[in-house]
Amino acid sequence: MSRVCGPCQACCGVEAIPSLDKPDWTRCPHQCAVGCGIHAERPEECREFDCLWLEGHGPEGDRPDLSGVIAWSSGDTGAHLFETRAGVVASPAGRACLERWRALRGPLRLFRYGSDLGAATGEPG
Ligand code: SF4
Ligand code: SF4
Repeated sequence: MSRVCGPCQACCGVEAIPSLDKPDWTRCPHQCAVGCGIHAERPEECREFDCLWLEGHGPEGDRPDLSGVIAWSSGDTGAHLFETRAGVVASPAGRACLERWRALRGPLRLFRYGSDLGAATGEPG
């Protein structure tokens, strides 16, 4: 399945990007109305990150900017979920999204909005 980020910029507001002096959970200064303002020169960290939705997993409607949940994994199973807005996974729609990822991927680790991304694992989903 071929997908593109389109209007989604969800991951740009999550992890720190040291080369840009961008801390965790802050908006990147290069985000603009059409996506990344430095797309051709974006840092390596950005080039290397593909969320599971972009890789073709999960339903179309779970694009992270719509669902508020980014799923990422470097393996065949399991996933780290990142909440992109405070309280998303406490909402019925957010919880339903989380459960879809659990059904698809198995064990989840949840990083709530603003939590310590330096920790090896988040809370069990
Ligand atoms: S969260 Fe996924 S779909 Fe959204 S911009 Fe990042 S890689 Fe693309
Ligand atoms: S440099 Fe571009 S791709 Fe990377 S976080 Fe900033 S806006 Fe997103």
